[in-house]
Amino acid sequence: RGGDGAPRIPFAEPGSLTKVFAVASGKGGVGKSSVTANLAAAMAADGLRVGVLDADIHGFSIPRMLGVTTKPTRVDDMLLPPIAHEVKVVSIGMFAPQGKAVVWRGPMLHRAVEQFLSDVFWGDLDVLLLDLPPGTGDVAISVAQLLPGSQIVVVTTPQLAAAEVAERAGLVAAQTEQDVVGVVENMAWLDQPDGTRLELFGSGGGDAVSAGLAETLGHDVPVLGRIPLDVRLREGGDGGVPVVVAEPESPAAVALRDVARSL
Ligand code: ADP
Repeated sequence: RGGDGAPRIPFAEPGSLTKVFAVASGKGGVGKSSVTANLAAAMAADGLRVGVLDADIHGFSIPRMLGVTTKPTRVDDMLLPPIAHEVKVVSIGMFAPQGKAVVWRGPMLHRAVEQFLSDVFWGDLDVLLLDLPPGTGDVAISVAQLLPGSQIVVVTTPQLAAAEVAERAGLVAAQTEQDVVGVVENMAWLDQPDGTRLELFGSGGGDAVSAGLAETLGHDVPVLGRIPLDVRLREGGDGGVPVVVAEPESPAAVALRDVARSL
């Protein structure tokens, strides 16, 4: 514990060498968790020491996507996280009562995120990725308070209606000490058998979020990558072997790995 009695969060200490990225989206279903799981696996495959904290209380899906079936083990007063694809994984879902939804209110969520950051034995990490719930709710605010040095990665689809809400998720940074490092446009297109690209969700969403955030935040917010729709990406998530591991040469995996290396 710190001198003021608050739990000690190593990632928030001055001089911490761990880069912390909070992966955010405006709404659910845009692939935020898929992107988080694949970035983590890609970074670990590159030899980085990586942890993922799944704080998406509404749709905790990281354990399945990374193929984690066990819970953290308690050793003294610390929790040892399970490891999959060389990634240390802790999910709020691992602590949810069996068969029940998580119906925690703000203060409990804050406490839970704080505990995951302070009581889990993460060891020395190069990168910690946080999978935030969609939107700008309690957890996003807690993360901004507990980890002011964390950087936000915004995931959106190309659809302009989706981009508008995604931009709001990034704008949390304007009111906190956080910064937005860039935008990932997921589900950008579908490669068809005849070689053409079908823009199933339209186009321009990534650029719109990038331009909107750059204007408000006053600095460049690049589109870090565009990830195509790919059945193998979905299958990898369902099967617990991320596409960057299962099909590393597929276009979606290549695009995700490029994003991971840009962070
Ligand atoms: P979110 O975390 O934003 O709610 P998920 O990562 O859970 O979104 O993705 C929603 C669904 O879409 C999942 O079934 C996932 O496998 C699928 N999905 C996400 N991105 C892609 C993609 N690029 N190609 C194919 N399926 C995808």
